[in-house]
Amino acid sequence: MSTSTVSRARAPERPLANSEAAPAVELTGVAKRYAGTVAVHPLDLSLRRGETVALLGPNGAGKSTTIGMMLGIVRPDAGTARVDGRTAARAVADGRIAGMLQDAGAMPGVRVAELVRLSERSYPNALSTASALELAGLTGEAKRRVDRLSGGQAQRLRFAMAIVANPEVLLLDEPTRALDVQGRAEFWAAMRDFAHSGKTVVFATHYLDEVAENAQRVIVIAGGRIIADGTPEQIRGTAGTSVVRFRFDGAAGAARHVDLLAELPGVKSVEHAAVENRAGQATVTCADADTVVRALVTTVPGWHDLQVAPPDLNSTFLELTQPERSRS
Ligand code: ADP
Repeated sequence: MSTSTVSRARAPERPLANSEAAPAVELTGVAKRYAGTVAVHPLDLSLRRGETVALLGPNGAGKSTTIGMMLGIVRPDAGTARVDGRTAARAVADGRIAGMLQDAGAMPGVRVAELVRLSERSYPNALSTASALELAGLTGEAKRRVDRLSGGQAQRLRFAMAIVANPEVLLLDEPTRALDVQGRAEFWAAMRDFAHSGKTVVFATHYLDEVAENAQRVIVIAGGRIIADGTPEQIRGTAGTSVVRFRFDGAAGAARHVDLLAELPGVKSVEHAAVENRAGQATVTCADADTVVRALVTTVPGWHDLQVAPPDLNSTFLELTQPERSRS
């Protein structure tokens, strides 16, 4: 299926309810422990309506457990999980929250539309099967057997089965795991269409490019705690790692100055390498590029071709999720 066939439909508007004033999701002091392992330390989290939120963190950080508590499938040892102004379990039964989980299987031999219609019948305020298929970009596959779908289509079928509930809050646990580049692009196009209809979307991932492109808010989780919460730009600024690169004539030039560079204010690391035309390149990772460049001018001779790169989400993420940071 080509990207151009992905639907641009919008989920229908729904009337205002009393619960409209409540946050989409409100976790208050929720905590979860498995035998000797703390999965989630006491955690508070409030999600506004209409936000698209990424839960970002390494494996074992507590993302799935947190999502499970929002969906009422993981029972917190302490605290409360409220969704759309009611308990998580009530919100699931009312179709106000729905999840697309990692390990949902499909029944072989069944057709796409039949499976979505089964979901449709179990929710009080469901979308029509046709709308859900359109939002998921699966209208053309409605009559196809579910065991004959591509990986990307199968994933969007699971998406259709979740959104047919017409939930206020949609939870996606690593939705593009094992998808190829095209499958991922098609999936996110469908997700954005759903989010644009004013719904709250929460997704767990460890693909940083997906966060920058698809989330308005990023919550970084490590060691069962929230260690950062903000826009992708704010998260980048949290660790404040910039990269300054420059060259020296002669492959040994950069190597000769490594000690000097390491002593510049705010420098976190220095790497050097021989590059083309027998030049040497130094790469300095630092807290504040302005300070390093000012010091460079006055203390280090013979450099040229200066480049300054802003903090990238990748290095910020790695820095934030190092164990010593997550325990603090
Ligand atoms: P993530 O989704 O970020 O990879 P999880 O929430 O799945 O993290 O896991 C958090 C921690 O809790 C991990 O140490 C994991 O091994 C543990 N854990 C999660 N679910 C269970 C379970 N059902 N039984 C035992 N330990 C679990």
